[in-house]
Amino acid sequence: MTQKEITYSNTKKSSKKTKKTGPRRFQRKRQRQQATTSKKMVHRKSTHALRTIPEIKDGVRIIPLGGVEEVGRNMTVVETEEDIVIIDAGFQFVSEEAPGVDYILPNTRYLEERKDKIRALLITHGHLDHIGGIPFIIDRIGNPPIYTAELTSIMIKKRAEEFIGVKHNINVLNPDVPLTLGKLKIRTFPVTHSIPDSTGIVIETKYGNVVLSGDLKLEHNDGIPTEEEKKVFEKVGKGNNLILIADSTNAERTGFSIPEQRVYDTLEDIIKSTKGRLIIGTFASQFERMIKIIEICESLGKKIITEGRSIKTNLEIAEKAGRLKSKKGTLIPIQEIEDYAPDRIVILATGAQGEEFAALMRIATGRHKFIKMTNRDTVVLSSSVIPGNEISVQRLKDNLYRHAGKVIHYRTSDVHSTGHGNSGELVWINKQVGAKFFMPAYGYYSMTRSHADAVIESGFPKKDVVIADNGTIIDIIKGKDMVIQKVSAPAGPMMVDGFSIGDVQDVVIRDRKSLAQDGMFVVIATINLKTGKLRKSPDIISRGFVYLRESQDLLQQTRLIIKKSVEQSTEGMHPINFDYIKSNITDTVSAFLFQKTNKHPIVIPVLLGV
Ligand SMILES: [Zn+2]
Repeated sequence: MTQKEITYSNTKKSSKKTKKTGPRRFQRKRQRQQATTSKKMVHRKSTHALRTIPEIKDGVRIIPLGGVEEVGRNMTVVETEEDIVIIDAGFQFVSEEAPGVDYILPNTRYLEERKDKIRALLITHGHLDHIGGIPFIIDRIGNPPIYTAELTSIMIKKRAEEFIGVKHNINVLNPDVPLTLGKLKIRTFPVTHSIPDSTGIVIETKYGNVVLSGDLKLEHNDGIPTEEEKKVFEKVGKGNNLILIADSTNAERTGFSIPEQRVYDTLEDIIKSTKGRLIIGTFASQFERMIKIIEICESLGKKIITEGRSIKTNLEIAEKAGRLKSKKGTLIPIQEIEDYAPDRIVILATGAQGEEFAALMRIATGRHKFIKMTNRDTVVLSSSVIPGNEISVQRLKDNLYRHAGKVIHYRTSDVHSTGHGNSGELVWINKQVGAKFFMPAYGYYSMTRSHADAVIESGFPKKDVVIADNGTIIDIIKGKDMVIQKVSAPAGPMMVDGFSIGDVQDVVIRDRKSLAQDGMFVVIATINLKTGKLRKSPDIISRGFVYLRESQDLLQQTRLIIKKSVEQSTEGMHPINFDYIKSNITDTVSAFLFQKTNKHPIVIPVLLGV
């Protein structure tokens, strides 16, 4: 297959799967960009040391392909000589590191090379950092069957509807009946998290069990886990557990997290005692809490209005799964808001992270069509601040404090609790499972390291703990010796960029970064093909670089430099080589602009020959 063909089939395949955005002309441009950048991609593929990874023998192999060194794009591989199962396929929302890219996916190349061994994709729960990658990667890994709990299966199906031509083979797991996949046996156990039907997974191999916690915390009373939690983990602990792979998200916090029950109690008090209208901002992913709020309101005869698409969608899913059973008339459409006294209205809104166009921000800034905030309103932010959103949350809070009567948030009252256990909970879970080896997962390095430290401090042998990077290959031979392979599985992030999926396209990302930082500078020059001289003074267009009107001097000097560069380049040249002139203009103009402004705009010369 030639490089061009590879590029083309990639583009075509992926364009089917994702929504086509933007006009045709941009798509064509993107394809051209791909054609140039993918050369690099193909080259890298052929030189990657895939062949030097020894296959697993007499043991169990674990590879986190994503979800360590980061939060998001969780994916773990469990492999024996005969079989592979994959646990979770999340994605990560994108940071400033990769402007313009939509999502980052786990790298599936290791799996693509071993498609025949893949028996299933198992999903622990329905959050996007565990299911978001499915529609993008499932084809690449040979469409294995997906197994998960009921609510999660509905969420995966719902998401698949947004992708044309994606059809999943989804199966709902019965928690009481183990599933046999090749020579492996799969069992699940229920865990406490912020979304119903969250499970941990046990994979039984002949060398012992691999136990994955999924995202979890503990229900507890003042640091003593409830009877239900004890029962669940006692059962898991009875297995011949080889390795535990567990959630590290909150491992940097000591002790036990605030139990969700306390949040419910606090919210109930607030809903009961609030005299005016109540507006609660939360995450749509907090299924359990939204359901609880609706139950509380119903028991108090209050009416609920939901604002925000993701909340509406998720409540529909909860209803479909039989988790939400509200009476008709408890949830009312927003148009009926005036039919009830303000103290009978509770508004459940998205946007607690200060998202510009979400319901809460529109309410707070007076841009909402139906809800005008007054000083008789009470606002509850039942959420924490996700790192990176500090500024937008602050802006939201300031607007709320300015317009609402009262604002309650997690710093002033127990109106939010995390879905991830603190280190006290994690150590307890670790002891109960009693596995021989331990790998902290799901979290940045600081989190996985803190998780490891806490567990070691509690008496776990340090030599049996592994803090993995993405792609680290951990082999446990004959159930007793842990070997970390020197080669890693490919783990570079794959990106969803508009409609195409691929490895990091370094060139494109670099351009976007410098466009964002220093802008661009377009030079349009008309050259006399006979004399090689400029017909007229070149035109200059710039965006995001300097304010042109106040930089007339700089522009004048640049024009002179362009003129000189063109004339020097074309001296004695026949016929005129445009590429040569262009690259000379780029070099001299870039150097000059950097010298004058200390900035590196992207210089784009456009030459016209007449
Ligand atoms: Zn989660």
